[in-house]
Amino acid sequence: MSLDLKSLVRTIPDYPKKGILFRDITTLIEDPQGFRESVKRISEAHADLGITHVAGIEARGFIFGAGVAIEMGVGFVPIRKRGKLPGETIGQNYVLEYGVDTIEIHANVLNSHHKVLLVDDLIATGGTAIAAIGLLRRTGAQADHAAFVIDLPDLGGADKLRSESVQIQALID
Ligand code: 5GP
Repeated sequence: MSLDLKSLVRTIPDYPKKGILFRDITTLIEDPQGFRESVKRISEAHADLGITHVAGIEARGFIFGAGVAIEMGVGFVPIRKRGKLPGETIGQNYVLEYGVDTIEIHANVLNSHHKVLLVDDLIATGGTAIAAIGLLRRTGAQADHAAFVIDLPDLGGADKLRSESVQIQALID
């Protein structure tokens, strides 16, 4: 029987604020089989696409994305919150529930010869992932694939991303 990844995710009510049900992946990555299986499923699903880089979104996307990059034998590109990358960057604003945030990647790393797989732990409204895909595409790279450990389908983010011509894999709904 295949490993039930969903049973390894813990739900914490009222975090980070009252009324939110937070899906906690630390219990999944503490489980060696759960962590390994998550990385393996994402890597295998994207093995024959000519992916040249995995891009992971700070911070939990680094955990899974780094594993996937190693497993696929490709480089890893960090997408970070504003001001964290030391070199020249390009940035993308996106709207949060209250206010605006910015994500950045190093400039001059990706170009039109590259094909990138975006990895994050979870997609909810899709705001973060859509900003990340937009940022990756602005480099000229192909960014048509994204993988998430968890999709919260009721929040519609995965559908929004699909309407931007992104193919999506989610390990858990
Ligand atoms: P979105 O932009 O799709 O609304 O939110 C997704 C981003 O917020 C991801 O980067 C994800 O790490 C984080 N996030 C939002 N809600 C949760 C949650 O319940 N659990 C986890 N692990 N991350 C969340």
